[in-house]
Amino acid sequence: MKELPEDIDSLFTELQLYDQYSFSMKIFPELYRAINKPKKLDCYCNECGRDSIFMSTESGVKESSSWESDLKTLQDEGVLVVKFICSRHSEHIIWFQFIIRDFFIMKIGQFPSIADFSNIEIKKYQKLLGKERYRELSKAIGLVSHGVGIGSFVYLRRIFENLIEDAHQQATTDVNWDESAYERMRTAERIGVLKSYLPSFLVEHRGMYSILSKGIHELSEEECLEMFPAVRLGIELILDEKLEELERQKKIAFGSKALSSLISKYN
Ligand SMILES: [Zn+2]
Repeated sequence: MKELPEDIDSLFTELQLYDQYSFSMKIFPELYRAINKPKKLDCYCNECGRDSIFMSTESGVKESSSWESDLKTLQDEGVLVVKFICSRHSEHIIWFQFIIRDFFIMKIGQFPSIADFSNIEIKKYQKLLGKERYRELSKAIGLVSHGVGIGSFVYLRRIFENLIEDAHQQATTDVNWDESAYERMRTAERIGVLKSYLPSFLVEHRGMYSILSKGIHELSEEECLEMFPAVRLGIELILDEKLEELERQKKIAFGSKALSSLISKYN
């Protein structure tokens, strides 16, 4: 059985449906509050089309003086429903359903669905990745939500390799570029010579590639599933960096045009 992550927000954002997550007595009070008391959740709002702060409502379940009876209350309650409302618009709502048994919790429902959620979270990369790669990222996430670990690593590896290939294509325009030397290099070395064309997070964490390759050949389904959130986060950070760079370039182009016209007017 998996253990409930210490970051309690993961209860809502990361737990897979129908998986049992054990929790300790130590984390129970926090878990209890997360389900029953008003709580903030930082999350993408499908309806607003951007990140928002959601607030849950008080459940009305009465708190007692001991955690044992609080645990019993939650078990007896049956399905625990938590409703989060977007702070921008009161009609934007996310629902979660859980059940609690002896020291384990299971998410049994969520609306919008996990797939919807994930697709929303990665939507901002759609333009950057292009149709095919975007679909692969979405497939990787979809596979994991169905317990397929190794297959999801195949897709992530393709995205990773594609980022390197993009940088490679850019590098070949440099007059000093040595293509035959590049062809003889292993991936880690290639990342090294391409570093000025690649997001710094990728360069600093180039070991990610060996994890992805290992996953396909050596890691178990379980191990891949366990590693997936960290590897996905790594890929997203790389993509975020590319997005930021694009934004910066756009701003520079806009700023320089605006300033040039001012300068020519007043000089
Ligand atoms: Zn909203």
